[in-house]
Amino acid sequence: MTSYEESYLNTRPQSLCHMCGKCCRVVTTPTPYNKLKRMAFQGDEGAKDFLSIFVPYESIEAAREVDAGVVDNILNLLKADNPDLKEDEMTFYCCKYLQDDNKCSNYENRPALCRHFPSTPWAIVPPGCGFEGWLFGKREEDKERVRHAKEELLELELLKSKYDEPKILNKISSVEAKLHRTIDFYKKYGSENW
Ligand code: SF4
Ligand code: SF4
Repeated sequence: MTSYEESYLNTRPQSLCHMCGKCCRVVTTPTPYNKLKRMAFQGDEGAKDFLSIFVPYESIEAAREVDAGVVDNILNLLKADNPDLKEDEMTFYCCKYLQDDNKCSNYENRPALCRHFPSTPWAIVPPGCGFEGWLFGKREEDKERVRHAKEELLELELLKSKYDEPKILNKISSVEAKLHRTIDFYKKYGSENW
């Protein structure tokens, strides 16, 4: 686990979960089902954990019959990032341990992926999830961090034009590299456009 995930998980208020069970009843992954099975066969712990609890629905329609709101929310968000997404290549799953009263019958032994969900501020959560508002705030903090890094880069650019001493320029370069690393870290969430 990276320190980013650790510090995020340490501050995440678990009490916000109102145990609706939606994130156990209709879920998907960016990795196709057949690939997940291959990964599990090859010993990938994450894939093994996932397939040890989640059972695929026969079709997207079958998942929609259970909770169309969750299915369409996920598809809409994924399509916003990838307009070429093919729905018929997606697989939705339900956990075999979820009970009719929305409680987990495997709570004490649930895998890390359950204990950590939502595992980043950028995780897709079902509409109405108790974490929605809090995650929005955390995403805004990430964006602010990146905007601040971009501002600092502009200021350093100006500073560079005022100095020609190698020692100072080297120091500026190392600060620039650090700021670029911050921006790159959030690239997969769209930091280039923040
Ligand atoms: S969808 Fe959100 S509120 Fe509902 S059980 Fe999952 S984490 Fe908790
Ligand atoms: S193991 Fe429990 S917490 Fe994890 S998805 Fe299944 S029902 Fe939900």
